[in-house]
Amino acid sequence: MVVVGGGTAGSTVVAHLAHATDREIILVEPGASSPMDDEPRFFDVLAATDTWSLEGYTQPRVLGGGSAVNGLVLSGDPPLHVAELTRDADEDEMGPASLALLGAGGRRVRLWWNGGRWNPGRVASHLVEEGRIEHRRTTAERLVIRDGAAVAVVTATGEIECSSVVVCAGAILTPVLLLRSGLDRLVPHIGEGLQNHPTLALVFHALAGEGRFDAAVVHEARTTNGRAVLTIVYERASAHDSDIGLMMSSLMEVESRGRVVLDDGRIAFHFGDLSTPGDRIAHTEMSAMLDRLADACGFIAHGLPAPALVSHATSSCAMSVDGEGRLLGVGGVRIADASVLAGVPAVTPAAPVTMEALRIATAMGEEMR
Ligand SMILES: Cc1cc2nc3c(=O)[nH]c(=O)nc-3n(C[C@H](O)[C@H](O)[C@H](O)COP(=O)(O)OP(=O)(O)OC[C@H]3O[C@@H](n4cnc5c(N)ncnc54)[C@H](O)[C@@H]3O)c2cc1C
Repeated sequence: MVVVGGGTAGSTVVAHLAHATDREIILVEPGASSPMDDEPRFFDVLAATDTWSLEGYTQPRVLGGGSAVNGLVLSGDPPLHVAELTRDADEDEMGPASLALLGAGGRRVRLWWNGGRWNPGRVASHLVEEGRIEHRRTTAERLVIRDGAAVAVVTATGEIECSSVVVCAGAILTPVLLLRSGLDRLVPHIGEGLQNHPTLALVFHALAGEGRFDAAVVHEARTTNGRAVLTIVYERASAHDSDIGLMMSSLMEVESRGRVVLDDGRIAFHFGDLSTPGDRIAHTEMSAMLDRLADACGFIAHGLPAPALVSHATSSCAMSVDGEGRLLGVGGVRIADASVLAGVPAVTPAAPVTMEALRIATAMGEEMR
């Protein structure tokens, strides 16, 4: 079996199937293990990690994918199997911006951290060291379909024959791989339904002092039409911008949908651009909320809130699979990453992506037994 993409979902799938089955597993992932799992500050990790070039959308190219670099923020329930491995930040680990948000009605947020970053890529690395799975450091270019079923994966370094493929390349690059394989002739709606959390960012003069974590406190609110808004404050705006802080508000419940396409072979995508009246109303209110919250925290803003692209894309293949991730119209292919979520979750996405990947892997394991 070949698993394409060793990110949050791919590493979770590999970890489960390596124990649940005795099948040979080849993981196709160009990224290496992250050396940054003991580094608590998000922007330092991000700055040290290789990424794909996707028009301003940050997708890491590393074993563990988004989990190897994410902002550590876990706004929903942790998946059961990692619940004990997450915790809240203590106040003495918070920087001055987080403490200001705490004082303005924010709450301590659960972190993907317990003396180290929770990164499923580490499990995949151990399985490689144990010889249980093989990691090919290369990029999948297309799937080979014969008589209606997958028979091989063509990579940048050669072809791998297989009887089943699990695609976990992320919400942008999974539909790209399927489209590059010519599967739009066989499979409905590839790339359609893409969603993301519309986000506004405001930069402010950083307050004196440093926290152990770049983000440790969130603020939750609702718009008058009932949409959840999540605001996160970062002590600085990047690994290099320690003189400015960053406050970001995201609309967590959104109706607009976009798509991923190939335009003359080039990757093109959009997220729906606030195409419904309800989204536009909620977005306008979110902008005012962000201003008020920055005021309440005593932040001196550098300018007005501006749109920002968070890496929370989902749902671009949700209409192309059945309830257990099987690609419709083609045999031997499953998808188990963010692209199969029905919609962008109302909480930060790493936990729902992990849970969905585990659910699909469990179904696969049972079927194989
Ligand atoms: C900077 C950043 C901050 C984030 N902050 C948070 C946060 O604080 N909290 C939270 O819950 N979520 C956060 N997220 C989102 C969360 O990490 C993602 O939703 C989640 O990782 C998506 O999982 P995935 O498996 O679908 O994709 P990914 O984890 O992105 O994995 C996709 C993998 O596929 C590989 N790949 C792509 N194309 C190919 C190909 N053709 N061949 C082989 N391999 C390929 C990539 O290299 C990558 O390793 C953040 C994400 C980023 C990038």
